[in-house]
Amino acid sequence: MNWVTATRHVFQPTLDTWLRRILGTEEFVIINHTDCDLLTFRDQDLVQKLELVTGVAAVPPALFHTFENLAANVRRQIHRVRSHHWIPEHISVRSFIYDVKTGGLAEVAP
Ligand SMILES: [Zn+2]
Repeated sequence: MNWVTATRHVFQPTLDTWLRRILGTEEFVIINHTDCDLLTFRDQDLVQKLELVTGVAAVPPALFHTFENLAANVRRQIHRVRSHHWIPEHISVRSFIYDVKTGGLAEVAP
């Protein structure tokens, strides 16, 4: 057992208790929406504009997490939550896309 595994072994039950008993977390629900402004520009474009307007260089991590494909972004977010070592495996992670025009909510398969 290495340090990371040992640390996880020690803290995982604590985190599980914290999530479930203190926060009552049983499930993560990720919701993105159509017509999101983050689809309309790229991080680098905004960084350049901010640097131009403010005269101050952006300092990493100056990310705005823009994306080009809504469903792909949702799947990436599911993966990030699922693969985070603090999130117990039994916690459910579901994701949806909210359609701002229809009010519909469509579940996205991982
Ligand atoms: Zn948005």
